[in-house]
Amino acid sequence: NAETAMYRGKDAGRATFQFYAHDMNARALDHLKLEAGLRRALERNEFILHYQPQLDLASGGIIGLEALVRWQPSRQPLRYPGDFINLAEETGLIAPIGEWVLNEACRQRKTWHDAGMPSSCRVAVNLSARQFRQQDIVEVVSAALRSTGCAPAWLELEITESAIMDDPESAAAIMRQLSDMGVHLSIDDFGTGYSSLSYLKRFPIHCLKIDRSFVRDIASDNDDAEIARAVIALAHSLKVKVIAEGVETEAQRDFLREHGCDQIQGYFLSRPLPVEALERFLHTHAEGGTD
Ligand code: C2E
Ligand code: MG
Ligand code: MG
Ligand code: MG
Repeated sequence: NAETAMYRGKDAGRATFQFYAHDMNARALDHLKLEAGLRRALERNEFILHYQPQLDLASGGIIGLEALVRWQPSRQPLRYPGDFINLAEETGLIAPIGEWVLNEACRQRKTWHDAGMPSSCRVAVNLSARQFRQQDIVEVVSAALRSTGCAPAWLELEITESAIMDDPESAAAIMRQLSDMGVHLSIDDFGTGYSSLSYLKRFPIHCLKIDRSFVRDIASDNDDAEIARAVIALAHSLKVKVIAEGVETEAQRDFLREHGCDQIQGYFLSRPLPVEALERFLHTHAEGGTD
């Protein structure tokens, strides 16, 4: 927007800022503060990743770990992506933040490999719409793999249904290149967009993620139950896996298992965890610590 553009102008000194600040509403000021905060966070390395395990219902094994970004400003409470990802998208800061996330997730995955983590467990990284449209996204992904020694097969990229449907033709082309590299692709928040069946068939995807909003009342609401059943059937007819996100209760898990859903992710199994806590979880789980 115009105010931000002026503030960012080459000689936007303090005087200029104060002059325009008078006209700015509180919201715009909040945005500027947050944007400055995000730039500082990048410089000071204040982002961290939490990982949420994904469970295979048939084998009982952990087959994935979704990396979720958090911001830890010094001496302030932890901040969640709901607070800052949208602004990062609007300002373009999502490019460097997203690159940091990719590199960190790949580095961590390689470390886990060296510690004996099986290849079947992928680390899943979210790509926002703008990142996905970034011209050099394929190069950014391959550079992250190369520089960290992470194998492409250990990485999964989550792209939202709406990001893909913005421009399905070019999305299919980018996904083809990423898939050819050996990276797995999943469609996040599935069911909230407007995918057409004819398009879906043409995307080289490995997994559909049923959006949390359909999972919440799955065991009590007939419409949500129908939608979940339809997504599971659709995924299987496309010969891809299906995972349900936001699974919080045993009843939801049981419903999904009975209806052939392949995998689940959610608080019922575990919240997203910092590395050390996640490693303890994996250890306990491997010993048969959860059902
Ligand atoms: P998402 O990719 O759909 O991730 C799932 C979100 O649901 C996460 O929120 C997770 O903590 C939360 N969640 C998981 N299980 C449950 C559950 O059982 N119940 C409930 N109520 N929530 C659950 P989080 O970490 O706040 O992330 C929100 C969104 O921010 C993500 O949605 C994703 O779209 C975006 N995001 C997170 N990390 C990144 C990132 O590194 N890059 C990009 N571009 N986007 C990210
Ligand atoms: Mg996701
Ligand atoms: Mg999701
Ligand atoms: Mg979601």
